[in-house]
Amino acid sequence: MRGLTIKFGPSGNSDSFYKEGHKSSLEMPEWLYNMGLDAYEYSFSKGVKISEKMAKELGENAQKFNITITIHAPYYINLATTDKTKMENSKRYLIESLIAGKWMGAKRVTFHPGSATEGTRKEALERAKRLLKEILKEMEDKGLTDITICPETMGKKNQLGSLEEVMELCNVDERIIPTIDFAHLHARDNGRFKTIEDYAEVLDVIEKSLGKERAKKIHVHFSRIEYTEQGEKRHWTLKDIKYGPEFEPLAQLFYERNMEPIVICESRSTMAEDALKLKEIYLNIAKRMTKL
Ligand SMILES: [Zn+2]
Repeated sequence: MRGLTIKFGPSGNSDSFYKEGHKSSLEMPEWLYNMGLDAYEYSFSKGVKISEKMAKELGENAQKFNITITIHAPYYINLATTDKTKMENSKRYLIESLIAGKWMGAKRVTFHPGSATEGTRKEALERAKRLLKEILKEMEDKGLTDITICPETMGKKNQLGSLEEVMELCNVDERIIPTIDFAHLHARDNGRFKTIEDYAEVLDVIEKSLGKERAKKIHVHFSRIEYTEQGEKRHWTLKDIKYGPEFEPLAQLFYERNMEPIVICESRSTMAEDALKLKEIYLNIAKRMTKL
């Protein structure tokens, strides 16, 4: 079988990590390595608070155990805001995430594009694109362009972040890679993933918008999800089979299309265990298809 370029890991730390007596995220790279995982998404959900010393130590540990670090920028980012202060803050949150990311040796920073409630969606998208351009300029000035920024597809309909909107954001600059949160798309589009064709359609849109090479390297978030008419309600674990979507068809497409995504599992509580299950699903499909 060809070398594994697809990577799997959790968003944050599983309950079991703490139950085993671990206390610091500095121990995560070794813990993930021992589990057989390859990636770790570190979340700055409520602000970038890590010290330079700790960030660098985490980066060293990640390198030692061959774990690819990615970052989730703070949730407060809203590139579509009309408020000057919020614009500046959004910019700052992303830049601070990138600076900490550089200390950690992170490859990617994923972020939520923002809200779509002020004016029309089109206007919100245009404002977001404008601010994104300013951020890219600042990234260049500050030497932060080694890290890829990844706008995410969002789970609620009133958020900016449909598949098409994220493609438009990515088209601002060819260095941008999308975070495709399949759970979010499933929720915002009322359970869109039922068959392998439903997943193929999304991958086709990405290929058509960004080209094959960029489409191969997408950042992926995956979990089961509960939703209402407005979209996302909450994330569940792989064991909660009453909620979709299923990973198998997507894993098959990743294999067939030779894709090299970083797949981050966002299950509640058991994100690392579930990331490993996703990896096993992928490896089983790869094994079966190699034999065919
Ligand atoms: Zn997210």
